[in-house]
Amino acid sequence: MIKVGLIGYGTIGKRVADAIALQKDMELVGVTGHSYNYKMEIAKKKGFKIFAMDDMEDFTKNDIKSAGDVNNLLEESDVVIDCTPKKIGKENKEKYYLPKKIKAIFQGGEKPDVADVSFVAQCNYDKALNKDFIRVVSCNTTGLCRTLHPLNVNYGIDSVHATMVRRAADPWDIYHGPINAVVPVLELPSHHGPDVQTVLPDVNIFTTAMSVPTTLMHMHSLIVDLKKDANAEEILDLFRKTTRVKVVRNAEKVRSTAEIMEFAKDLGRLRGDMPEICVWEEGIGVKDKKLFYLQAIHQESDVVLENIDAIRAATGFEDAEKSIEMTNKALEVNGF
Ligand code: NAD
Repeated sequence: MIKVGLIGYGTIGKRVADAIALQKDMELVGVTGHSYNYKMEIAKKKGFKIFAMDDMEDFTKNDIKSAGDVNNLLEESDVVIDCTPKKIGKENKEKYYLPKKIKAIFQGGEKPDVADVSFVAQCNYDKALNKDFIRVVSCNTTGLCRTLHPLNVNYGIDSVHATMVRRAADPWDIYHGPINAVVPVLELPSHHGPDVQTVLPDVNIFTTAMSVPTTLMHMHSLIVDLKKDANAEEILDLFRKTTRVKVVRNAEKVRSTAEIMEFAKDLGRLRGDMPEICVWEEGIGVKDKKLFYLQAIHQESDVVLENIDAIRAATGFEDAEKSIEMTNKALEVNGF
């Protein structure tokens, strides 16, 4: 059993904790308590041990006992997943992971240099084998890599132009916006293109982005210049065969991010999550060697799968395909 500690029990962390608890080869040692809130009550209800990040006064007042402090959590773990807000992962690396010589997995809010490798399981699992520090890239970058990688392998990519239409905030978030504007990113390329190249260095990509008033999902519009001729049917077949990519259909009345989220709930997914990247069947067009497609990204859940595979890669499990299959099976992703 791989013993895993989780630091930062928020949007991503609470999902990763549940996913770890579902793996047959992993044990969740516990999660950190940073500030008392309803999420901590749920962690307690699930029987997760809670380790104090700071003082636990608010926790004990509310009848949540600490199982120790963060140092105890690290001592009991083989690897730690850091799901804290951006920049804190790097601070934690200096403060805890390096001195304690513990392997750590970071999230996409950290800069690439926090880790030995930026990671998307189906693209570069082998590069992360036995590494001490792995960075799971952001939700958008994960989505771009999952569909661009098979295109690059099968057709070769000359260049990619992609526009990210980004959700304003996560659904629970009452602080961020916009609530009535479209806000373009006025620095080009947006950070997504260079971030894709941390995983797929030979893909020539330029990205633009904007934020819009929705919380459900991100949407990407991609134009890919392929090296070989293609047609829409072949591309669809390729996406259908690609793990962690789901082809959704206007014909089934899945016409929007709202309907994808409802679809995920109807599938009975925990929290109504959709970790697969959803590509629209009717949104694929090919003109000569130019491919156009649209995909939707559930920002809260796609990276959860990568965190689980990153744990196996970091601890020396060599078979990438097997790891991906085990993760998919435990989380009922892609036909399981
Ligand atoms: P979040 O704010 O929902 O959760 C962060 C958690 O960390 C909170 O529970 C908070 O209490 C805790 N925390 C804050 N400071 C801490 C500290 N010093 N020590 C320990 N815990 C602390 O954030 P999130 O959305 O889950 O994002 C976490 C990381 O995942 C970021 O790098 C982010 O960029 C990345 N990410 C977020 C999304 C998304 O859509 N939310 C998607 C992909 C990747």
